[in-house]
Amino acid sequence: MVEQHGPLCMRSLQGALKRDKHLKHQGRMQYGLFLKAIGLPVEEALLFWRLAFSNKTDEQFQKEYAYNIRHNYGLEGKRVSYDSFSCGKIIKGGAPSSGETHGCPFRHYSAGNLEATLYKDNISTNHVNEIMNLIQGSHYQLACTKYFEVTHPDHDKIDVIEHPNVYYELSLNDSDD
Ligand code: SF4
Repeated sequence: MVEQHGPLCMRSLQGALKRDKHLKHQGRMQYGLFLKAIGLPVEEALLFWRLAFSNKTDEQFQKEYAYNIRHNYGLEGKRVSYDSFSCGKIIKGGAPSSGETHGCPFRHYSAGNLEATLYKDNISTNHVNEIMNLIQGSHYQLACTKYFEVTHPDHDKIDVIEHPNVYYELSLNDSDD
């Protein structure tokens, strides 16, 4: 479902997870809280991450990752149930360094990488140029909104995307119409 309806940031994390069988801490936070907000219960989250980290032993997984997953659900530590990250938080947060895959592709990908991603998603040259112009003006959320509009041509006009979970819900509802 994320591969079909998730915004580019979450599809990028899912792709990296599939490729590397791992995500670094910030990526696990960004993606794990997004999955929680779309309704993944903690037991399924533990199973999802265990299967995704297929080259870790059970012992490594329990020791290094399971605690943080339960922590995100308010079952460890201060027992705070954490909210998923908004676009503002992701865009203004620390840029991913080498080996990290969190962040917003419209903000943090290089221009070449983003263009290649857009063409891979069958975005037309005119729309790619429009999106790249928005990025040059630092309008990252407008660029994401434009991306939504061109990939959901039958959807009613939408407000500016402020949250990855809103993007997901809009896309999911679009497919129900
Ligand atoms: Fe994700 Fe928001 Fe960036 Fe869109 S603008 S890719 S939803 S962080």
